[in-house]
Amino acid sequence: MVRYGELSTKGKNRRSFIDRLAFNTRAVLHDFAQVVVKAQRDRMHIQLNGADSHQVMERLQQVFGIQNFSPSIRVERELETVKTTALAMIKEKFQPGMTFKINTRRSDHDFQLDTNQMNDLLGGYILDNLPGIKVKMKNPDLTLRVEIRKNGIFLSGETIQGAGGLPVGTAGKGLLMISGGIDSPVAGYLALKRGVDLEMVHFFSPPYTSEQALHKAQELTGKLAAFGGSIKFIQVPFTEIQETVKHDVPEGYLMTVQRRFMLRIAAAIAQKREALAIFNGESLGQVASQTLESMVAINDVTNLPILRPVVSLDKNEIIEIAEKIGTFDLSIMPFEDCCTIFAPPAPKTKPRLDRARNYESRLDVAGLMQRALAGIKITEIKAGEKFLTEEQPSFAQFL
Ligand code: ATP
Ligand code: MG
Repeated sequence: MVRYGELSTKGKNRRSFIDRLAFNTRAVLHDFAQVVVKAQRDRMHIQLNGADSHQVMERLQQVFGIQNFSPSIRVERELETVKTTALAMIKEKFQPGMTFKINTRRSDHDFQLDTNQMNDLLGGYILDNLPGIKVKMKNPDLTLRVEIRKNGIFLSGETIQGAGGLPVGTAGKGLLMISGGIDSPVAGYLALKRGVDLEMVHFFSPPYTSEQALHKAQELTGKLAAFGGSIKFIQVPFTEIQETVKHDVPEGYLMTVQRRFMLRIAAAIAQKREALAIFNGESLGQVASQTLESMVAINDVTNLPILRPVVSLDKNEIIEIAEKIGTFDLSIMPFEDCCTIFAPPAPKTKPRLDRARNYESRLDVAGLMQRALAGIKITEIKAGEKFLTEEQPSFAQFL
């Protein structure tokens, strides 16, 4: 039995939220042929029909829009059966000295007993049949939740926290600028958590960056796909732009101008693919390109909202999330991406917008953009898909 999160407050959008959550849940459980997902107004029921409950619950914990869920047993609305099932469930977990309570809710108000009567009936039956057990209202060791519904009575002995958030796909589409680092996958996770349907944009610069750097970004995308279903991966060749910028722009502005190109290209892709915002993994003050002055100088190229979910998090807070979502070990693998390799030794921490514009205006911006956009490749990446091979990184020879 699955309980919805925030979506229950969404008024008339509620139905579409629930439908989307059911759709996402079915997608996550697609390989369990016997499982049936039924989404109702106030609860979602997942009938296991013999499927392994632990495997199913592990998947459910990654679905945004689920507040919590309880492995439950459904019985007929018949008091004898409810009593014996409740006793058996408590017995299964009972150890000498333990306390318990019954917590009944009723969505069917026509049922013959109200919640207090049901609590008393089941509590009394358990006290009579399980010597040594005691009732405790506050923080008991065991809580048996009982829900009286039209389609049966549901009993459950535990409640498991879900991922929270909103169902992916209910907040519109956004692009995530994904590198191979620690921060951008975490930013992507947080965007998905608020219901954004993400597509990835990744810039790569062969031969300066290895195939493995690209594969790393793809594999990170596979990790994120576990939270919202398969994700489109848009790879953009960035070599010509980086070579040109490196050659024609003063060293202090290399990074700013490169970033302006990245963002301009991302914005062009967003327009084409009808995305409404661009997400990145910038965290204020973390590196030279992530000062407010630098954001002003880079943000200048588009009006689209640039959303930075990790802007206020410390590095250790970001790492904590990366570990939780399983991206950290991949992110720290040593395949340098294009920005690391072309990073000037001393980028300006306070670049000036007028200068950035001025240096850039000497370049063939339109031509460079057009050729990069022409080289785009789009693939679809599934949850858990693997891309990295055992081969060692080979970028070193180009440094
Ligand atoms: P991350 O850990 O996400 O790589 P970082 O601390 O290395 O971040 P930067 O390299 O300054 O920071 O990058 C800032 C942001 O710019 C990244 O979080 C990402 O959103 C975007 N970005 C950087 N490199 C790329 C790339 N090769 N392709 C797409 N986006 C990128
Ligand atoms: Mg990076």
